[in-house]
Amino acid sequence: MEHDQYLQEVQKRLTEKRYIHTLGVRDTAIHLAEKYGADKEKAEVAAILHDIAKYEDVDAMRAIVRERKLDERLLPWENEILHGPVGAEIVKDLFHIEDEDILNAIRYHTTGRVNMTKLEKVIYVADMIEPNRKFVGVDRLRQIAEEDLEEAIKECITHTLTFLVASRQLIYPLTIECYNDLMRKE
Ligand code: GDP
Ligand code: FE
Ligand code: FE
Repeated sequence: MEHDQYLQEVQKRLTEKRYIHTLGVRDTAIHLAEKYGADKEKAEVAAILHDIAKYEDVDAMRAIVRERKLDERLLPWENEILHGPVGAEIVKDLFHIEDEDILNAIRYHTTGRVNMTKLEKVIYVADMIEPNRKFVGVDRLRQIAEEDLEEAIKECITHTLTFLVASRQLIYPLTIECYNDLMRKE
């Protein structure tokens, strides 16, 4: 089974806590995919692999950004922003995954982007609400995710932005573009 191979590789690269988070994202993503009619198989693969680059060395990640000619705007950012786009490159190399929807779900799982697909929304939301997540407001996000995926992605992005602003962190441009795109579509 390919999934076992993916899980093994991910377990090797992650801490135990982050691996348990990954299993939570997988189960939640499968549930949301089923509920909202996204591809369950793709949701499972993207969820298992979404944080594969989380503990990659930052300089190695920047080297990948340059070599692969990824968006240059990534270069000044740290691991928080880099692990999605770099993770997509790693799973292409390791597992020859070429499905663009899976790759984009991994690429944009931290920031979101303009015109997210259903699969991308499922992974973004699942990452945020999986059962091991503990932050004030997570239960409300879980409840909304059971009712309306569109509303859930809006609330999740809003939560992320609010948190970042409140703690005076820098906002990656795609995060804002994603927020504007979702709110424009109200
Ligand atoms: P995780 O990898 O499962 O912990 O979750 P994510 O990949 O969604 O997020 C990783 C970290 O990036 C979290 O701490 C987010 O708050 C943070 N993050 C998300 N968007 C931005 C952004 O625009 N700017 C900054 N500085 N951090 C962000
Ligand atoms: Fe992540
Ligand atoms: Fe994650």
